[in-house]
Amino acid sequence: MMEKTSITNTNIETSRIGLGTWAIGGTQWGGTDEDQAVKTIEAALDKGINLIDTAPGYGYGKAEEIVGKAINQNHHNRGDVVISTKAGMNWTDEGDFFRDSTKARIHQEVEDSLKRLGTDYIDLYHIHWPDPLTPIYETAEALNYLYRQGKIKAIGVSNYTTEQIDVFQEAAPLHTIQVPHNLFERDSEKDILPYAHARNITALYYSSLTRGMLSGKIHQESEFTGDDIRKSADPKFQGPYFQEYLQAVEELDDLAQDRFGKSVAQLALKWNLQQPGNNIALWGMRHPEQLQPLNGLWDFEIDSDSMKDIDEILMRVIKKPVGPEFMAPPDRQNI
Ligand code: NAP
Repeated sequence: MMEKTSITNTNIETSRIGLGTWAIGGTQWGGTDEDQAVKTIEAALDKGINLIDTAPGYGYGKAEEIVGKAINQNHHNRGDVVISTKAGMNWTDEGDFFRDSTKARIHQEVEDSLKRLGTDYIDLYHIHWPDPLTPIYETAEALNYLYRQGKIKAIGVSNYTTEQIDVFQEAAPLHTIQVPHNLFERDSEKDILPYAHARNITALYYSSLTRGMLSGKIHQESEFTGDDIRKSADPKFQGPYFQEYLQAVEELDDLAQDRFGKSVAQLALKWNLQQPGNNIALWGMRHPEQLQPLNGLWDFEIDSDSMKDIDEILMRVIKKPVGPEFMAPPDRQNI
């Protein structure tokens, strides 16, 4: 039975698993199959995942269009779906992304997103990446204006530091944050997650399966095509790093099978959901069968001894941990 939670200081009720649509957008993921993507969204909704996370940057609007199509073509009750999308990114004619959280850009983006999504409000609206060339105050005021208008029902920031959030909150309420968080990427545990926990801000963890590494389906011969970030940009999928991460996945899978009769994907998702605080695990999928680990996710808990053993595997096997920093887009002076 799907676990649910509510977004801090709102009436928004959501599943604790959110469907991520970065890969559905296609860019940086080697392309998209729209028919499969729509089917995936429908299957996720059928299985009780009512939160869909998207962004204009995922396929230059393609992911938002697909989300809108999936929701609208099957006449889903809009109130039954929680749409999370983002602002604060822009791109050149050549398709290069850069950060842009000016008031003018946000006002343009919200209208574009509403149109693509085929709706008149957005449930969770995040600033995708902090823009060092725009005062945080300006960005926060722009979101607060949309919030007061009712165009967005909750305000979030993504990839912000605690200092940036402090400034942001001087001009707008804050309901959610997005941070990378999974078994292999845990830097957010140092400051941003304790900060959010102490203030009861809902945390959306992204890349719950480390871009598929923790799915258990990646192996030595896996090939990534086109512009797929895993082909050359994501260091975990390259050279000696790749060997170490694959080895860790194998050992984590053995632990999951032996102790719980579960797969490494189920272990990874459960581990994220068992972290302290009000949190939601964003899980990217683009084929309906990728939902399979959801079956059997709710009938086990990772005990404290197993938590320690998981940490021991990570410490011992991954000698050179590497983070998701490669994802960070440039500001508009550095494209
Ligand atoms: P993820 O959830 O760790 O991994 C997604 C990928 O793993 C899928 O596209 C799929 O890749 C593979 N996968 C998933 N389930 C699988 C299964 N059962 N079997 C085999 N492979 C499976 O990574 P993510 O997409 O980066 O993160 C999740 C979401 O978080 C994103 O979609 C996005 O909505 C959000 N996000 C936000 C930010 C931000 O800056 N705010 C950054 C990153 C992500 P293949 O289809 O290629 O096999």
